[in-house]
Formats: sequence, C-alpha cells, structure tokens
Amino acid sequence: MSIHAFPGRLSTVLIAAFVSLLAACAPAPSELVVYSARNEELVKGIFDRYTQETGQKIQLITDDAAPLIQRLAAEGKNSPADLLITVDAGVLWHAAQLGVLRPIESATLDANIPEHLRDPQNRWFGLTVRARTIVYSTDRVKPEDLDSYESLTDPKWRGKLCLRTSKSVYNQSLVAMLIAQHGEETTEKIVRGWVANLAAPVFANDTSLMQAIVAGQCDVGIVNTYYFGRLQRDDPKIPLRLFWADQRGSGTHVNISGAGVTTNAPRAEQAQKFLEWLSQPGAQSMFAGMDLEFPASPAAQPAEQVAAWGEFKPSPLNVARAGELQPAAVRLMDRAGYL
Ligand code: FE
Repeated sequence: MSIHAFPGRLSTVLIAAFVSLLAACAPAPSELVVYSARNEELVKGIFDRYTQETGQKIQLITDDAAPLIQRLAAEGKNSPADLLITVDAGVLWHAAQLGVLRPIESATLDANIPEHLRDPQNRWFGLTVRARTIVYSTDRVKPEDLDSYESLTDPKWRGKLCLRTSKSVYNQSLVAMLIAQHGEETTEKIVRGWVANLAAPVFANDTSLMQAIVAGQCDVGIVNTYYFGRLQRDDPKIPLRLFWADQRGSGTHVNISGAGVTTNAPRAEQAQKFLEWLSQPGAQSMFAGMDLEFPASPAAQPAEQVAAWGEFKPSPLNVARAGELQPAAVRLMDRAGYL
C-alpha cells in the first residue's frame, strides 16, 4: 500500500458516506415536500389518502407559520419545499408579499374555490373555512338579544363580554375585515365599545374564553367555530351556542386555512396537482372534517356536527383584505386600548 493510497481511500469512503447521508435527508426526487403550519394530526390523514390514491409520496415538515415563511425566503432557489399550508388569510397574504408563493393557472381551482376565498393573483387558495362569530351562554342570553359584532358595544353588555387577546392573528384579521367593511373610524368605535364592555382581562385563547362563559364570568364572546365545535364534541350539553353575527348586514367574518405552491418549488407541477385534488369535494369534506371546519368548496358537505350549527351568510369580502389591513388593525386595536 503506498503512503498516499490510504488517505485517498478514506476520503472516498467518507464522500460515499456523506452522499448517502445526504440522500437519506433529501427527499426522493419525486417526493413532494410540504411546509405545514397546520398540526400533523390535522393534515396527515388526508396526505396519506392522497398517497394511497395516486402513489405520490409526501414529506411533511411542520412548524409555526412565521419560521416556515422565513425559511422559504432564506432558502430561496435551494428550497426543497413545493407547497406551503397554513391558517389565516393574512398569513398567506404576507407570504405572497414576500414572494415565496407563485401564481398558478388552474381551471380546477378556479372552479372549486370561490373567488373571495383565494388570492386575486392566484398565489394561494383557501381550502377550509372557519367563521369567527359570537358565542353565548344559553343560561343567560337569548339569541334575539344578539345581532352584529357592533351590537356587542351596546351598554347592555357592560361587564358581560369576554375577548381573546388582540395579539391573536384571528382577531387582527377580524378587525382588518371590519375596517374593510366600515372604515377605520367606525371600526375604532366598535373596538372601543368592546373594550368598555369587557368582563375580564383578555384571554390567551378561544377555549379558555368559552370556559369563562360556562363558569359565569361573562355571557358573550367572539370565537372561531371549530374551537366551539371541539368543546361541543367533548360535552354535547355544554351551555353555549354559536350566533351568526351580522346576518342583517354584511355577513359573518370568515377566515381560511389554505395553501400555495412555492416560488422555487422543485416539483411545481405535482404540487399543483395535489392542490387541485385537495379542492375536490371528497378531499374537501375530509379535510374540513378533521378540525370541524367548513369546506371551502360549496360542492362539499361539512361534517354533521358542523352542519347542525345552521346555514349562515358569510361576508363576501375577499379574505385577502385581512392581510392588506392587518397593520392598520393592529394600530387601531392598540389605540383603542384592546390588549
Ligand atoms: Fe386555531
């Protein structure tokens, strides 16, 4: 053995080991890579169904939306990701603004997903819908006492309203959509009216807010429908009901979970196929059913429990406005003393 042979052979072995390690980490060329801000338990079942039906394997990487979007931006052309899935139209709007989602032309998506639930520039598409509406105590409130978001500013609700923190993106989107509907001046009056009626400091999440209503700390609140659905599923006799806000006006505020094909997607065509499949009625019902949401496609049925909450008129405003107006909403809530 020459003096040079051993290091040469060693480096060959090391390179081979390194390459196989890379191969183990990197997705197979045909494997779709999805960055998901939705919990694995809420998407895994539907992803597995797609793999069963089509043979398309999917690698799922989950994290919070902000780090996933930052990661997409930082990875740039080297990103392995094909699809971004997250909740909140404002978050999807922000991702599109950062340039990490690409516009796609799809007659299937255009047909299946209503126009107000997708990006006007086709960079993201709503897949499931959640309403953010009024919840009330069936022990202490009659539904005929309720009306719009604005009606919760009435002095009759003094010391009876519970709200989640304004730091929640859900409330930022709700207030952004109220600005889109009423303008800043009226919206600020509404938010100030809510703050004046608070029964307790703001809550960290919708579930603890509803538990406070059950406990008698307050009588009414504003929550996302699926959080109510989870409590109702665990306790069908829970003394709470949903009330569809603003049915005599612009309609109840809705938000989405949705997805977009990434700008640098190595498998953009497969990613678009998967997105189109997710917009079909069968997949829509399954996806919405995972977390008691409404399907985005009007052709799909919601779960029985969700359907039992009754039909309602949703706001027809494009959910992209939530993104455009979120900074103004955050400033407004700050001015109004909504913590
Ligand atoms: Fe949520």
